[in-house]
Amino acid sequence: MNETTMHELRGKFRGEVITPADLTYDAARKVYNGMIDKRPSLIACCVDEADVIAAVRHGRESNLLTAVRGGGHNGGGLGTCDGGLVIDLSRMKGIRVDPAAGTVRVQGGCTGGDMDHATHAFGMATPGGTVSTTGVAGLTLGGGIGHLTRPYGLAIDNLLAVDMVLADGRFVTASATEDPDLFWAVRGGGGNFGVVTSFLFRLHPVATVSAGPTFWPIDQTPNVMKAYGEFIRQAPEDVSGFFAFLTVPPVPLFPPELHGKKVCAVVWCSTAAPEKADKATKAIRSVGKPLLDHVGPMPFPALQSLFDPLLPPDLQWYWRADFVKEFGDAAIAKHLEHASKAPPGLSQVHIYPIDGAAHRVGKSDTAFSYRDANFALVIVGIDPNPANAATITTWCKEYFDALHPYSAGGAYVNFMMDEGQDRVKAAFRENYDRLASVKKRYDPTNFFRVNQNIQPS
Ligand SMILES: Cc1cc2nc3c(=O)[nH]c(=O)nc-3n(C[C@H](O)[C@H](O)[C@H](O)COP(=O)(O)OP(=O)(O)OC[C@H]3O[C@@H](n4cnc5c(N)ncnc54)[C@H](O)[C@@H]3O)c2cc1C
Repeated sequence: MNETTMHELRGKFRGEVITPADLTYDAARKVYNGMIDKRPSLIACCVDEADVIAAVRHGRESNLLTAVRGGGHNGGGLGTCDGGLVIDLSRMKGIRVDPAAGTVRVQGGCTGGDMDHATHAFGMATPGGTVSTTGVAGLTLGGGIGHLTRPYGLAIDNLLAVDMVLADGRFVTASATEDPDLFWAVRGGGGNFGVVTSFLFRLHPVATVSAGPTFWPIDQTPNVMKAYGEFIRQAPEDVSGFFAFLTVPPVPLFPPELHGKKVCAVVWCSTAAPEKADKATKAIRSVGKPLLDHVGPMPFPALQSLFDPLLPPDLQWYWRADFVKEFGDAAIAKHLEHASKAPPGLSQVHIYPIDGAAHRVGKSDTAFSYRDANFALVIVGIDPNPANAATITTWCKEYFDALHPYSAGGAYVNFMMDEGQDRVKAAFRENYDRLASVKKRYDPTNFFRVNQNIQPS
């Protein structure tokens, strides 16, 4: 890229254009996963739609590999690239709640925490993830699984419209009535179709939830996991909780005698009235001999940020994932075997229920195809020390290889690393061909290809 084109971009830009020559470059190029160490040639920190349009045009005209960054949380580091342009939306944090319409408009640089903070003031929320520092943009474009999935569906099931800048620099609004094919594709198809500058979501009356964890010794897994699998699928939709394996962290939140113990757990979240939630979950919370049962009312944003302090940026992360229909005895035995071998520290496994309201949307109604799966499994190796990167990666891959035969075949795109085209196709199944034809229409040169890539048909 020559000096003239750089000056031209700076002339059109209201945000900041950062290059390797700038003192802020090293901080600006960082993403959440400390395992990712990429060096873009240019980081365009946009503050408005005009900046995004200028950055997209610059990327095209200079023939630069172009990545888009929302919250920067992608496990595989798909919010950045080596040698190319990063269109960074993290300064686009505008949020407008419309309490009368029951909607919220959220700009592309917001985190889940930003959104929950804004909507909670009105006693409302929309489905997002489970850690508040995750970007709304990447999470939503891949589907968006979280505590509110059973009662209110995936994040995309509550998406009413998006504002986008397309590969040719055009600005469009996509919704059920405007560019409906594009709107279908962005609901699960990731960042393949353009830069989403803002999202319009439907809100729900969620303020206080009954939430918190129940822990059991890991050797009670066969009993607890089977009981959980049966319980959650017939539980009322306003009762939810994800299953987990973890090592109890040495923090004041947990009693000292549990620190360092490997446990299986359920992290509960119920939007029902506290008495109803307690009654609905009492029997399952008493299965076997729990080590800890700490469920009570809390503000929804408090639940969403409960685990943030344990997961600061810059840790090493390695992920593997699959969708799952049920837990059979053989799969449960493999879970126990591999979860028991987790490296010490923060590595964990989450199994999110994705039934309830998410099952009322058809397989081909949005790009997210696994509406027939009941759970999204994710195995995550996490460690602060780069010297342990190989250990967490090996554990994660071996765990995945052992469980993959019991899966529904493909994974949730937002829980994948860079795993190749076959895995992308397996994630979308019969929706892949339609996605490829929408891609051809809106991004025929595959300009947006730093993502779980859908190739133009
Ligand atoms: C700690 C942690 C907790 C998580 N918990 C959950 C969870 O509970 N539920 C869940 O569903 N997922 C969860 N995830 C996964 C998360 O959804 C993905 O990592 C997602 O990619 C993060 O989005 P982001 O905007 O932060 O990421 P980025 O790295 O910024 O971007 C990810 C992808 O989205 C694209 N993208 C980002 N912004 C835009 C935009 N504005 N327009 C177009 N494309 C864009 C990027 O190009 C890239 O391909 C979690 C991740 C982490 C690290």
